[in-house]
Amino acid sequence: MSTEITEKIRKAAILNAIRHDGRADPQAVLGNLLGDNAELRSKVKEILPLVRQVVQEVNSLPSQKLTELAQSWSAEITKEHVEEVRQLPPLPNADKYPLIVTRIAPNPDFVLHIGNARAAVLSHDYARMYKGKFIVRFEDTDPRLKKAQLEFYDVIREDLKWLGCEWDEEYIQSDRISIYYDVGQSLVSKGAGYICECEPEKFRTFVNAQAPCPDRNLGTERHIERWNKMLEGGYLEGQAVFRVKTDLENPNPAIRDWPAFRVIDTDRNPHPRVGSKFKVWPLYNLASGVDDHLLGITHVIRGKEHLTNMARQIFLYNYMGWKYPDDLHYGRLKVEGMILSKSKLMKAIDSGEYWGVDDPRLGTLVALRRRGYVPETIRKMMWDIGPKPVDVTISWDNLNSQNRKLIDPTSHRYFYVPDPLKTRVTGVQKEFEVHPPLHPQHPEMGARTLTVRPQDGIATVYLAGSDRALLESGKSVRLMGLFNLRPQELVGNELRGEFMGEQIAGEEHAPILQWVPSESNVQVDVVMPDATIKKGLAEDGIMTEVVGSIIQFVRFGFGRVDKVSPGHVTVYFAHQ
Ligand SMILES: [Zn+2]
Repeated sequence: MSTEITEKIRKAAILNAIRHDGRADPQAVLGNLLGDNAELRSKVKEILPLVRQVVQEVNSLPSQKLTELAQSWSAEITKEHVEEVRQLPPLPNADKYPLIVTRIAPNPDFVLHIGNARAAVLSHDYARMYKGKFIVRFEDTDPRLKKAQLEFYDVIREDLKWLGCEWDEEYIQSDRISIYYDVGQSLVSKGAGYICECEPEKFRTFVNAQAPCPDRNLGTERHIERWNKMLEGGYLEGQAVFRVKTDLENPNPAIRDWPAFRVIDTDRNPHPRVGSKFKVWPLYNLASGVDDHLLGITHVIRGKEHLTNMARQIFLYNYMGWKYPDDLHYGRLKVEGMILSKSKLMKAIDSGEYWGVDDPRLGTLVALRRRGYVPETIRKMMWDIGPKPVDVTISWDNLNSQNRKLIDPTSHRYFYVPDPLKTRVTGVQKEFEVHPPLHPQHPEMGARTLTVRPQDGIATVYLAGSDRALLESGKSVRLMGLFNLRPQELVGNELRGEFMGEQIAGEEHAPILQWVPSESNVQVDVVMPDATIKKGLAEDGIMTEVVGSIIQFVRFGFGRVDKVSPGHVTVYFAHQ
């Protein structure tokens, strides 16, 4: 057998040994070898004895030596997984426009959630796919009911950057009020809009009966006067509404003569950016419709709940002689067990049910980010579901397995014991310094150092309270990378046990548990997805992590380091 093959087996065995606490398994090594070297598959019979021999040699090496060996050649074994290049389905009529322009138009009354990520990612990626332009437009023209909050403009910008949706231009509708007034002026002069003074109830009675309200046919001159009166502050809140004339026989009453401007008492409800400067405010369909045209949007990518808005806006476009953009209306997106209704979320936050927009129970991007979900996970999901008009439900299992795939290769490993169980081990005759790798598959990332210093033959470590039942059974366990322990008795809240040697026991697979030295450790609070807090201890190496790093607590799960202060770390749990 060639030395080249022997060397390949040796590498596979060393990696496998590092992953399995110093004990490589010949079958696993053979499997890895054949997976990477298909040409050897016909030679299994000849190779197997060699694999056994090499594995035996490797298993006799001290763990420090294994790590050193692996560090010397790990770069070459790191496999790059190149994602297969995927394409979104083409945009309709893309060839009819010299430049494709898309937009996302969030209302900064709330932050973006996973549902909004779809409009953001698709609009952005389509713009890039066609070398076009992606615009962010803040739609903040309701200072009364959907009032913007100053901090959310920035959080949304951060959300978009995090998602990788860098924008080419940004607009804020509260800066553009006079532009909407000009369109209002134009509509009213054409007889396409009128100022309605009806009480809402009364107007509804007329419109439901497909009849004009008493104001509708008063004549253009009267309405120009009323429009000026409106702009000069002659109406109080609720006294007048600017309506766009539509087909009163439209089968959908919600489309008939839809409201375009209204009066808002901004002395009582000042706008967070422009205060009380304006009393007449455009409603959604007017402002959004006008901007899509004026900003040259060629393709609007949004949920199918906007189909009614499109029907309304087409009246505006026809009056103004504009061409309506091409549209993609995708289906509803649900995430299993998660509220994505903005109004429900806001209500629940206001009532104190959730502590804020980044509460770990929420599907907001800021909450997911805080827990250690990476933007590539969200992007991948959005590409998978694409702009399809059918309704889709995303499962947490899916989201988590996708995220795990992405964060696992770079997450440092640490020992963490929730609800720590103090454990005194007798018969420990020497000091132990062990160096478990920061990542079992990537020895080049380096190793941690954990030290156990017995006093009078007694070593003290902490084990996880969640392993208590296992320990109470009296069965021997292995402390990962350290030594074997036979639990003897539980005295109060303390476990007593006896040292059972350092070597991994032959064929018996003792459970392998994580542990934390009593000599040096740090308190860690883990904020769980249900917002409860688990308290525990971790090895002190975690103090070297910076806020924002994503780590894995061995046998516990992945999380994101949220806060590091002397002797104390807070981690937000992502998933197992
Ligand atoms: Zn009226």
